[in-house]
Amino acid sequence: MDYELNIDKVKEEIKKKKPKKILIQLPEGLKPRSREIMKKLKNNKDLEILLDGEAVYGACCIPPEKEREKYDLIVHFGHTELVPSENVLYVPVESKKEVKEITKKALKETEGEKIGLTTTTQHLHKLKEMKKTIKEEGNEPVTRKGDKYIREGQVLGCCFIAATDIQEKVDSFIFIGSGNFHPQGIANSTNKKVIQGNPYNGEVRKIEKGKWMKEREMRKDKARNSETFAVIETPHPGQTHNKVTKEVTEKLRKKGKEAHIIRMNQITPNKINHLPFDAFIVNACSRIVLDDWKNYEKPILLPKEAEELIEP
Ligand code: SF4
Repeated sequence: MDYELNIDKVKEEIKKKKPKKILIQLPEGLKPRSREIMKKLKNNKDLEILLDGEAVYGACCIPPEKEREKYDLIVHFGHTELVPSENVLYVPVESKKEVKEITKKALKETEGEKIGLTTTTQHLHKLKEMKKTIKEEGNEPVTRKGDKYIREGQVLGCCFIAATDIQEKVDSFIFIGSGNFHPQGIANSTNKKVIQGNPYNGEVRKIEKGKWMKEREMRKDKARNSETFAVIETPHPGQTHNKVTKEVTEKLRKKGKEAHIIRMNQITPNKINHLPFDAFIVNACSRIVLDDWKNYEKPILLPKEAEELIEP
């Protein structure tokens, strides 16, 4: 098992609050462990535990307020608190992967002495160890201090302040974690070299800046001749930006385009490919557009990209 689930923390909360009905939210990677988790938490026959079967991508995916009221407790595994709510317990899941060797390996590819250190929620408990390793190798680790919602060194796919706030104080960045979404976001939001060290496969790579910029232009080109648009928003509390939906819809209409609003729980290709619109604007998690756009038959754009398209 590569992750520490912190089940004891949840058991303590159950003991304290004595809930009768619990909803468990798990990121997709942990759903295979759902039976194990539910069995461990059920401490009496009257306690009803439900698993949220919808995809959970981030802390923004807690249920909307009205839905939350149906449960005494919602246990959200895998992410730190983003949307404060009385009956939601956020339980960060900690990766057991070693970080010392990968930090050393990544350091070899950096430039300069001052190294901006960033990582994702799963490795935050090892941030101290990463900092120590950077010092031992003769460099100076630099991190942005944490606050209520963004911890020290923590990047989210939609929030890179852990890097942007310190970019003028560092020579290059190290990102310790997997995937492309987070390190690419750091590279595109800062003006420094970014090296990713992946603790899961031991690989180190330089993140090429500008990849997203090229893709952004390709997306806009694909949507350029569209006449009918759908602006999609979700009910997820951390993603609901009604003002943005309204603004972009109005702008499209002013330019003579036909624009409608769609509300959707989860945005997937098979849910929208057949809908009668030329292009879609996704006002939700930017990962859907930035990472998955090639999986959609029709063009999908971020609200900002749609605005650039109609107001070049
Ligand atoms: S909006 Fe996307 S990137 Fe931001 S927290 Fe939610 S899932 Fe993560």
